Amino acid sequence: MSDKPEKFIDENGLRLDGRRVDEIRPMKMEIGVLSRADGSCYLEWGKNKVLAAVYGPRELHPRRLQKADSALIRYRYNMAAFSVEDRIRPGPSRRSIEISKVSREAFEPVVLTHLYPGAVIDVFAEVLQADAGTRTAAINAACMALADAGIPMKGLVSACAVGKVDGQLVLDLNKPEDNYGDADIPMAMTSDGEITLVQMDGDVTPEEFKQAIEMCKEGCRQIMEIQKETLRNKFTKLDDVEISDD
Ligand code: ADP
Repeated sequence: MSDKPEKFIDENGLRLDGRRVDEIRPMKMEIGVLSRADGSCYLEWGKNKVLAAVYGPRELHPRRLQKADSALIRYRYNMAAFSVEDRIRPGPSRRSIEISKVSREAFEPVVLTHLYPGAVIDVFAEVLQADAGTRTAAINAACMALADAGIPMKGLVSACAVGKVDGQLVLDLNKPEDNYGDADIPMAMTSDGEITLVQMDGDVTPEEFKQAIEMCKEGCRQIMEIQKETLRNKFTKLDDVEISDD
């Protein structure tokens, strides 16, 4: 028997988790959480929990994989075996390989890779608890881990999904909306609104697609504010540290 809800949006315009159609789930993040990584971020977004770690830029071995004029970015998205209700089989899957590829491509236009020829920048995104929207959560965390590692970037990347339920577009799908909705469109974009990732599952009209982009832009703008605030907090704290003469 399907657990599909009869209605996703009530007569007051509120969703099953009480959000408005254009509201994102609560998000919080912290950077610098792993001492061995060059940069790291722990992010919670609704019930999603993601840890991102960045290593590099460092020399790429074997050397035949090196790019003469830029650094190589490697991105590994992984869901922990215990991150969902049923245990996930450890190791790469078709889904995780695809998500890793599109997520790497979401950062390639932004990271100034030409500054590090022959190097590699490794990004690991580990989903500890999954509840819809993990690829976008991982991108938001990975961006912060890259910034925490001091990797030069043109700007931040933020990601969010738009979907369609009960004939209406909704921002940042929750689990029932993701499972039973009519569409799921995850996107990532830069602060200039340049889209660096867009995927689509389901059906929307061309007009709805344009609206989805606008909705997503607004979601990403809100996420970018949280990302900037997190960076500001870290660097303000560093400013407060008194430097002694000895
Ligand atoms: P995203 O997490 O980016 O939305 P999907 O749309 O593929 O990616 O997955 C939606 C949700 O379905 C995930 O967030 C997770 O909660 C759940 N899910 C994905 N893969 C599995 C799996 N192999 N087993 C159980 N649940 C899964």
